[in-house]
Amino acid sequence: MTLLICLPENMGPRVLKKELLSIDCNLNIEIEPRLVKDPQKVEFAIVWKHQSGMLLNYKNLKAILAYGHGVDSVLTDEKLPYGVPILRLKSEVMADSMNEYLLAVVLLYKRQLLEHLNNKNKFEWGISSNLNISSIGILGLGFLGKSAANIFLRMGFDVSGWSRSEKKLKKIRSYKGKSGMIKMLRNTDILINLLPLTNETKFLLNSRVLLNLKRGAYFINVGRGETLVEEDLITLLDCGHLSGACLDVFQTEPLPKNHPFWRHKKIIITPHNSSTTPHNSVTTQIIQNYRRAVSGEKLMNVVDLNKGY
Ligand code: NAP
Repeated sequence: MTLLICLPENMGPRVLKKELLSIDCNLNIEIEPRLVKDPQKVEFAIVWKHQSGMLLNYKNLKAILAYGHGVDSVLTDEKLPYGVPILRLKSEVMADSMNEYLLAVVLLYKRQLLEHLNNKNKFEWGISSNLNISSIGILGLGFLGKSAANIFLRMGFDVSGWSRSEKKLKKIRSYKGKSGMIKMLRNTDILINLLPLTNETKFLLNSRVLLNLKRGAYFINVGRGETLVEEDLITLLDCGHLSGACLDVFQTEPLPKNHPFWRHKKIIITPHNSSTTPHNSVTTQIIQNYRRAVSGEKLMNVVDLNKGY
């Protein structure tokens, strides 16, 4: 039985292998698909942005784990082995890391700290500022969205969220459906996108939709770049309908040097690092799922292929 790790070098496949072996030293782990001696023995694969079609080499694969919360990069492979379940990670550490980022951005904006930094560079005292904003709308009230919603609620914000199914959450308004989304946007000062990328969410955030936000609203994208129509964001920032945006995800990553986002004064760019997965925070769930897969037990965190997340 072989567990195959197929992650890009910058995601530390060797470190993940070491962490997994520290829990179970009997595991047979390969980190280089080309070094796998017997492809028939590969029963579990951990992947991120893998090469299309490569998973068809493993005829006895029992599960494919996308090494993250989003599974779009796995599902875009049109040559996936038929009937093999796709799994995802669910990590509290990842949620904490995302919450830290979101809090930092929201408070940076609310307390106008960039403005003060600008003033300092010009030796200007400036004026005392704290934007009068209270409502946060979150697109996607799943594992990460719910966690963020609770943090902002505790900070005293008025929090709403949009999801496919309605949620019953204490003090958090839940919206669903297109009309529900518009209702939420009309009352939103800061919009956070935490939707997965699916056929339904691709380019969902265009100017027609975002114009429903309160004038002067702020936008944070930590979901996926292709949920946003990028040129529409620029139009809305330029006409003042949106006051700024902080973007962690983009249609093309790394963001090309000639992309207009780089020069836009109202946009903050981060390199898809709003949340990271420390290997040791997910090794236990990986091994649990691996054992379940090889023994034919019910798997955890299985992706619904019809919904696409
Ligand atoms: P999740 O638990 O699967 O939650 C997804 C949420 O989106 C759910 O509430 C779901 O509604 C909602 N949703 C999906 N499609 C929808 C639609 N068409 N209309 C309305 N609501 C819809 O995922 P998660 O763990 O919270 O992660 C969310 C996304 O964050 C990931 O897919 C990934 O793209 C992104 N992410 C980014 C980073 C980063 O570093 N930037 C890190 C981690 C994750 P239901 O609850 O009704 O199903």
